[in-house]
Amino acid sequence: MSVANGRALLAIPGPTNIPDRVLQAMMRPAEELASKTVVDLTETLLADLKAVFRTKGETFLYAANGHGGWEASLTNVLSRGDKILVLASGRFAIGWGEMARFMGADVEVLAGSWRAAVDPAALEERLRRDERHEIRAVLTVQIDTASGVVNDIPAIRKAIDDASHPALLMVDGVASLGCMPFEMDAWGVDVAMSASQKGLMTPPGLAFVAANEKALNAHQQATMRTSYWDWTSRMNPLLYMKHCGTPPEHLMFGLRAAIDMLFEEGLEAVWQRHSLLAGATQAAMSKWAEGQVLTYNVVEPSQRAPSVTTILVQGDPAVITDYARKVCGVTLGLAIGDLTGKAFRIAHMGHVNAPMVLGSLGAVEMALQAQNIPHGGGGVAAAIAHLSHGARMGA
Ligand SMILES: *Cc1c(COP(=O)(O)O)cnc(C)c1O
Repeated sequence: MSVANGRALLAIPGPTNIPDRVLQAMMRPAEELASKTVVDLTETLLADLKAVFRTKGETFLYAANGHGGWEASLTNVLSRGDKILVLASGRFAIGWGEMARFMGADVEVLAGSWRAAVDPAALEERLRRDERHEIRAVLTVQIDTASGVVNDIPAIRKAIDDASHPALLMVDGVASLGCMPFEMDAWGVDVAMSASQKGLMTPPGLAFVAANEKALNAHQQATMRTSYWDWTSRMNPLLYMKHCGTPPEHLMFGLRAAIDMLFEEGLEAVWQRHSLLAGATQAAMSKWAEGQVLTYNVVEPSQRAPSVTTILVQGDPAVITDYARKVCGVTLGLAIGDLTGKAFRIAHMGHVNAPMVLGSLGAVEMALQAQNIPHGGGGVAAAIAHLSHGARMGA
């Protein structure tokens, strides 16, 4: 007997649940591509993306997924043969670096752990050894969606500054923008990128890049530039140039609604909501872990991401994820990369509220009970206690 029928819940770290308001905003006829509606839509989105990235720099919007955003950011500031340093903390910075290698960069990976954040001291030490300043850029993710690690971007910036190193700091915010604080200008991030389908609650297909003045100067020297991604072309006032062709109108109408929702709630409140829901997930997980079959992938509590929790399983994680999907209608994240077959992920990212997260946690706890997997009981009760403590009426 299954109790899966009802509204299906996505608890995967992207694509995330799309708000009805976003879906409805997309249900409309196509517009003439240089109409005032589309010109205004482009202008307001590029301006509001600055507010989301917290930058006075330039923002760019591409018809692409996150990988496209990676390529867009690399081509615009690098030249073939440039040395770059990739900070490992799971899968995603490595993937970005692999792309850079494919494009002709000389890529070095600063070794890291799948279970811990980037160590700023190790970065500072490496940069100090680069006496000739050959490293042109440092690539890192804010949240690694595979490992569930959150990196301390201001500490990474400080390590670069303490080494008096001129490298560009490039940050992937795909799994963190709209889920936790990101302060591009205040933190001294030179290039930031993200995509539509995670914290920004919009269907996959849009990538965003933000660049500060230092990055725009590097762009002048870059020789990896290609026409589709090129910032100079896209800074042209002509709409056709801004989008390098037909704008992805419907995704943009969806994004407009999503950003309106974020601003109506208030970015700080959005971050706080994610922090509370992550805390609830961790409260449940800390109970379950007492059974010694489930273990946090990220060892240090302060390095656990506010948008996704990665849980190691002794045994086959599919026993839990299959049960949650087939019996409860909850789709949990499977593990990827080095953790394939060894872990699962609970996303608490984007358009999520208390009942949605409690529903995901409830499905996991049902699976643990039904499948006789040793675990500490009362995980969902602990999550409820955490939420009832942190959430308030009228706030
Ligand atoms: C999802 C994700 C990506 C890749 O995005 P795609 O749209 O799948 O190309 C990149 N970086 C991080 C941190 C992600 O979570």
